[in-house]
Amino acid sequence: MSRFPSRSAICNFATPLPHPKELKKTSLDALLAAEILWDIEALLGRQSLKDLDLEALESAVRRQALRLAAHAVQQRLNADHSDGEQPHRRCGCGQLSRYAGRRAKTFESALGPLTLERAYYHCSVCSRGFCPRDRQLGLENTSLSPAVTRMVATVGALVSFEEGSQLLRELAGVPVNAKQVERAAEALGVEIGEDEKQDLTPVELPSLPPTLYLGVDGTGVPMRAEELKGRGGKQPDGSAKTREVKLCTVWSAEARDAQDRPMRDEGSVSYTAAIESAATLDTDQAPSAFTQRVLREALRRRFTQAQRTVVIGDGAPWIWNIAQELFPRAIQIVDRFHVKQTLSTVSKAVYGSDSPRAHQWARRRHDELDAGKFSDLLRAVRRHSSHSEEARKCFQYLHRNRDRMRYPYFETLGLCTSSGVVEAGCKVIVATRLKRAGMHWTLRGSNAIIALRCSHLSGRFQDFWERRSDARKAA
Ligand SMILES: [Zn+2]
Repeated sequence: MSRFPSRSAICNFATPLPHPKELKKTSLDALLAAEILWDIEALLGRQSLKDLDLEALESAVRRQALRLAAHAVQQRLNADHSDGEQPHRRCGCGQLSRYAGRRAKTFESALGPLTLERAYYHCSVCSRGFCPRDRQLGLENTSLSPAVTRMVATVGALVSFEEGSQLLRELAGVPVNAKQVERAAEALGVEIGEDEKQDLTPVELPSLPPTLYLGVDGTGVPMRAEELKGRGGKQPDGSAKTREVKLCTVWSAEARDAQDRPMRDEGSVSYTAAIESAATLDTDQAPSAFTQRVLREALRRRFTQAQRTVVIGDGAPWIWNIAQELFPRAIQIVDRFHVKQTLSTVSKAVYGSDSPRAHQWARRRHDELDAGKFSDLLRAVRRHSSHSEEARKCFQYLHRNRDRMRYPYFETLGLCTSSGVVEAGCKVIVATRLKRAGMHWTLRGSNAIIALRCSHLSGRFQDFWERRSDARKAA
C-alpha cells in the first residue's frame, strides 16, 4: 500500500475530480489521494504552467500531504483500544498495576505532531504509571517518534545541536529545539556505546583482504571544568583543559594510486573511539577499557584472520604496548606523516618557524627518512639535542621507534606507511564535530556523540537501528 497517490494519478489532471466530501465510504488510501489531488487542483487552478511557482507548490502539497497522513495515522492508532483490554498489568516494581483510562500525549513525528491516546496503567505500590503502547511503539520516555529520533541522531552526529535543530526545521519541517536534539542524540549515543560492547558479529565478506591495517591514535577534546577536577594536564599550572579520546580504526589498502602506491580501499574504514583509559597495570584483573575496545574492533573486522596484519600509530608507548599484547604477529609501523610532523616541529624550534633554514632542514630530514638513511637522520637530530628540548625528545623518539620506521623496507612489502588514515580518523571522528570554537563537553556527552559518529561513519548505524527495533519487539 503506497502512502501517496501514484505519479500518474497526480499528473492526470484532465480527469475531473470529485470533492473529497463527495466520496462516501472509501478506502483510506483513495480518500488521501483524492484530498491531495484536490488541493493540487485548488493551488494550480486554471493558471498556465509558465507562471507556476513550483517551489511554492511543492512545499504546500508536501505540508498538506503530511497533515493528512498524520491525521490518518492518528485516527488509526487511536481507534485501537487493545492496549487497555487487560484490567491489570505487571509493573516494573513486580506488583500489579491497574488500568486507569486512556491518556493523550502529543509526539513530534516525521508527519508533524501526533496526539495519541493510549491506555494508562497505574501502580499504587510504587505510585508510578506507564503506557504499554509507548513501549511497543518506541515512544517511551520521549516526545519524539522513532523516525524523528533517527533524524536527530543523524544531525546530532554531523553538526552542532543548534545547527541540527535548524536543519530539522528547514529540511523536514520538524520543530525540535537544540536542547531536545542534544538530549535525544546523547541518549541514543549512550545506547550505541552499550550496543558496541555487546555486538561482536564478525563482518561478512566474500573474501578477507590479504592485509589488514589497524591504526591507533589519541586526540584531546575540550572538557567542562567540572570534568577535569584533579586531573593533571599540559597547562602551565599543571592543570588540564582537555581529555584524550583514543581511537581505533581498521582498513584495507589493496588499491593502488597512479604511482602504484597502496591506497586505502573505499568503504573499508571502520572506527571506534572513546575517552577511556588505555593503561593496564600489572595488578589489574582485566585489560584496560581501551585495550578491550581494540580487541572488539579486531574481532568484528576479523583482523587477526588476515594473512598479514599491520598496526600503525604515532610513537606513543601505550599504543605499542597494546599492539604487542593483542597482536604480537603484526608488523608495527609509525605513521610516516606523524614522524615528518615531529621533524618539522624540531626544525621550527631550532631555526624559528617560517625561516628558510627551518624549511630546508626539515626537507632534508624528511628525505633521509624516506630513503632509509636512518643513521644520518639520527646524527642530524642529535646535533641539536644539547640546546633544544624538542630535538632531544625527537632523538629519543626516533631511536626508540627505529624498527617501526623502516619505510623503504615496508615499501618493498607493498605496505601502506604514510596513509594519514589514522590522523584523518581523529579529524573526521573527533575534531570536526567536538573541537569546534566554544565547545566544552561532559564525559557522557562527548563519549555519546563519539559513539554516534563512529557508528555513522563506519556504516553501522542501520544495523544498530535494526537490533534496537528487534529488541523492542522482543521485550
Ligand atoms: Zn509499581
